[in-house]
Amino acid sequence: MKCLLYHIIALSSLCCINACTQAQESKSVIPTEKADSIPSTTEIPSGVRALLASYPDFIKSYSDGKLTLSNGEEVIYDDKKEKTFTERMDNADIEDMFTQPYDTSVWMPSRNYDPGRIRNEKLMKYMYGATAQEVSKKLVKVKWFGQQLPFTKENGAADSLRAVEKELASLPEKYNKYFYQSSTYNWRKVRGSNRLSAHSYGIAIDICTKYSDFWRWKNPGKEETDEITYVNRIPKEIIRIFEKHGFISGARWYHYDTMHFEFRPDLIHYSRKTK
Ligand SMILES: [Zn+2]
Repeated sequence: MKCLLYHIIALSSLCCINACTQAQESKSVIPTEKADSIPSTTEIPSGVRALLASYPDFIKSYSDGKLTLSNGEEVIYDDKKEKTFTERMDNADIEDMFTQPYDTSVWMPSRNYDPGRIRNEKLMKYMYGATAQEVSKKLVKVKWFGQQLPFTKENGAADSLRAVEKELASLPEKYNKYFYQSSTYNWRKVRGSNRLSAHSYGIAIDICTKYSDFWRWKNPGKEETDEITYVNRIPKEIIRIFEKHGFISGARWYHYDTMHFEFRPDLIHYSRKTK
């Protein structure tokens, strides 16, 4: 029934789009390589521009409210549904991923502001693998402060993590304690939820837990919708280096997970272009 409902919604939005925009159809197809050179006056949503620029191997173009994936499949960008905070987390369309821009100038997140925690599972699975087996095939080893960590090679993620390691290694020695006993790939759900963790896709790294804070550890028994007090002990210098190479930090989430860094060049791109 739910499935049928989605089809009806998809079909009705398709009809509307066709009726309204047929005349402009040929003009609105944006090839990936040109996404960044298009004047911002066109009607391409900023989130779409960020996706086209960040994931050119997987997202080919945008037209009439739909993204065309590299396999030719079309995906509706915005399902136009009103969602609560929890609904958006549990059932995000692609547009929802940009409803909380990642702001690199804010160090104290406001209530329920978790930029990057909203992920469209279908897109993530398409790019990085839909099962543990599929994801595993895309993993390569990245040297990391004496460890060899598995990370996906897709979208340049592993290369970006290598660049982060190189730059972190040039920081004064007092910072090294944060990088030991790090972990990356793990096909699992987000602790306390049914959502797949970014670690499942091989795009996330947790640095040393000894110097990190996770909101659930500090607030046993609290729900995701409850008010909590923000905590972070990870130095800003470390966070900025990750961000420079396309990673977001869980230290910028109201539901803080300060050991967590995730390769999300789309959000970093969106943040730079919409400022
Ligand atoms: Zn993590």
